[in-house]
Amino acid sequence: MVHFVGPVTFAQLYSHAATSETAALRRFATLLEPKSGTELEAMARESSALTARYFGKAIRLFAPLYLSNECINTCAYCGFSRDNPIVRVTLEVEQMAAEARYLAAEGFRSILLVAGEHPKFVSNGYLERCVARLREEVPSISLEVGPMETEEYRPLVAAGAEGLVVYQETYHRETYAELHVAGPKKNFDWRLECPERAYTAGFRRLGIGALFGLYDWKYEALALARHLEYLLRRCWKAQLTVSLPRMRPAAGEFIPRFSLPDREYVQLVCALRICFPQVGIVLSTREPAGLRDALIPLGITMMSAGSHTEPGGYTGQGKESLHLTVRGRAQSEIGGAETATGQFDIADERSAEQIANVLRARGYEAVWKDWDAAILSNG
Ligand code: SF4
Repeated sequence: MVHFVGPVTFAQLYSHAATSETAALRRFATLLEPKSGTELEAMARESSALTARYFGKAIRLFAPLYLSNECINTCAYCGFSRDNPIVRVTLEVEQMAAEARYLAAEGFRSILLVAGEHPKFVSNGYLERCVARLREEVPSISLEVGPMETEEYRPLVAAGAEGLVVYQETYHRETYAELHVAGPKKNFDWRLECPERAYTAGFRRLGIGALFGLYDWKYEALALARHLEYLLRRCWKAQLTVSLPRMRPAAGEFIPRFSLPDREYVQLVCALRICFPQVGIVLSTREPAGLRDALIPLGITMMSAGSHTEPGGYTGQGKESLHLTVRGRAQSEIGGAETATGQFDIADERSAEQIANVLRARGYEAVWKDWDAAILSNG
């Protein structure tokens, strides 16, 4: 089991055995233990009441906008992994803007820009230009891209990005080393310290998470909670969110090594809400519709909807530049493909409007823009 104690960086915390834990973490550990039906219902009631108290009956909706599925990393579990023979593309800035206009017409005012890590395609001010252009279409922009230096983040914040999402994937170092076969992502600590660099650069929304399926779910959950607890103290001006993505089918056909069943997934959401009542919990379209609907009152504060995980997936932008790569090299043929390959298959294919209707039917408001941005920037 990992332990975090100590003063300065999370890496230092990570390497020490715990001599003391906060009450929130102590309770979190007990809430992860096996629960009877009655105990789980009690957790659900407490979680639901805390969510209503801290967030009201409102769920913020957002959409991912994939910019590029080029990547130099070999991550054994990811569809975009360098060695996967998939159809790839990087959107031009105006192609990205066309995708954004589609999402804005759907109602979205909050967009997560996603890209693989590639020094040729996702570099040289490309992300900065995308953010600046996107700011003309939507007011709330977050990024999920390869980790950077603090100084590289500053221009992105200046261009209008307010949030940065970086999942550790697995907090288990040996598993991390094994699954990140090649590329800069092999560096566990560089990734772990990324939220702090982003905070120093001025990001005021930070998203962390683990990809469930790579290692034992309780280990990941406890490590994630410890990371969260640390960041709440270290990055106290930021709004923190956690995500609990479970693995989905993807190119490369990686088989999940561990399972996080639905019942334990619900238990984990409730445990996080009970112990960290002020933290946002994100639910993506990786989860099936029925489970997503059931989780609405139990602690979720943000949902993606109508998502595509391939660049150009909303409007077909970038078609003329599609290319197949084999072991990182572009081929002349694309085998009749008409779209780029997605990062993974989504499970909830309902549109944004359908999700908004489900929320309304359950007495919740679908919030398309988070007005906290104005408050945060004045804070
Ligand atoms: S997980 Fe990220 S870094 Fe790894 S292959 Fe996929 S897109 Fe690239």
